[in-house]
Amino acid sequence: MKKKPIPTKIYLTEDEMPKSWYNLRADMKEKHEPFLNPATLKEVTAEDLGHIFCDELVKQELDQTTRYIEIPEGIRDFYKMFRPSPLVRAYWLEKELDTPAEIYYKFEGNNTSGSHKLNSAVAQVYYAKQQGITHLTTETGAGQWGTALAMACAFYKIPLDVYMVKVSSEQKPFRREVMRTYGANVIPSPSDTTTIGRKILEEFPGTGGSLGCAISEAVECAMTVPNSRYVLGSVLDQVVLHQSIIGLECQTALKKYGVKPDIIIGCAGGGSNLGGLIAPFMGEKLTGKADYRFIAVEPASCPSLTRGVYRYDFCDTGKMTPLAKMYTLGSNFMPSSNHAGGLRYHGMSPILSKLYHDGYMEAVSVEQTKVFEAAERFAKCEGILPAPESSHAIKATIDEALKCKESGEKKVILFGLTGTGYFDLTAYKAYNDGTMSDYIPSDEELKKSFDTLPVIE
Ligand SMILES: *Cc1c(COP(=O)(O)O)cnc(C)c1O
Repeated sequence: MKKKPIPTKIYLTEDEMPKSWYNLRADMKEKHEPFLNPATLKEVTAEDLGHIFCDELVKQELDQTTRYIEIPEGIRDFYKMFRPSPLVRAYWLEKELDTPAEIYYKFEGNNTSGSHKLNSAVAQVYYAKQQGITHLTTETGAGQWGTALAMACAFYKIPLDVYMVKVSSEQKPFRREVMRTYGANVIPSPSDTTTIGRKILEEFPGTGGSLGCAISEAVECAMTVPNSRYVLGSVLDQVVLHQSIIGLECQTALKKYGVKPDIIIGCAGGGSNLGGLIAPFMGEKLTGKADYRFIAVEPASCPSLTRGVYRYDFCDTGKMTPLAKMYTLGSNFMPSSNHAGGLRYHGMSPILSKLYHDGYMEAVSVEQTKVFEAAERFAKCEGILPAPESSHAIKATIDEALKCKESGEKKVILFGLTGTGYFDLTAYKAYNDGTMSDYIPSDEELKKSFDTLPVIE
């Protein structure tokens, strides 16, 4: 079949927009191990989770069998404000690399929060509103999730407390102002507003905080404020479900032009954008309809898939959340404060962990100076200033495209460009000044962290 000429940007029409999310778990013959209640070590029940999360989201979290879950009209209407996101053919990057490979990227940075996180934020706040919840809490690392959630909470008029990892709130004061403008209350974490925060401050005075610690504070706050719930921007199955909109749009857009990707690449922090991007393609692979190579890219300073262990662990430092079987560095692991590139979470989505463990997906880790070199190269030819997180995927894409140049293979590469880097200019400054360093944890350091993992029969 002769391909139609491919425009630089491929958009979907309103009719072509997905009306359901795709639940990848339905096509996984082997599901990931269940979440465990931290107090009883028994499989969590809907009732356990209902204290922390909204009912409809608990239902989605525990649903392993419904293949397509309808996106309510209210959410689809909100999506129309910023979706579809463009699928872009990176003609200029291909030219710059002088590669025979075709490169496409799905750009999720075209909204004020600057990332894909709004896809799940809208859904979670919508369901909270439906349930009559009157207060929400969350954590944020780099700030994109907090911003996305602040936007959704402003729209649905629900007050929001955001526990922001302290180093990030210092590095990114402007991100904090965006959240405040949308009405969120931003608290640097660890803080003295929670029991767990005070305990961590006592134990590690001067700590810059971590996502695991901010999660604990946000969960504690949700349990103490009446009619409040906690929302999480990554890792959970429900978030991967909401993010499947990314992959579904890609699938339709590529089909329109008869393009089939050989390699699909995404950065991996907690795994939500990657899980969402690959979901429908992985579904085809699992059901034998097609084959693809999937590559998760993570920072060398926080390498949960490539150097972590596949074990049950807590999702937070305070050990309040359910235990998940996942690739983890240990919930006490604190990435180096020199690490500017985001993706600082100690664990990884249980869905992706399972797929990686079973050999359906590859993973690589990359050092941050190399990531920023790739970001600079991309910005100069494609125009978009990428988020450092997204630039991990750019780095791996460039490496694969250069391999094609060597071998002469004309592969099709699709990668997720998750966001823009306007709030990461402190990191870009370090890169431009030549003061950026690469921190890689030693085996001893990781072992020390693994030794603190919970022992589950
Ligand atoms: C949060 C974020 C990520 C990483 O989170 P995942 O859950 O792994 O997708 C990647 N890119 C950007 C721009 C982000 O904001």
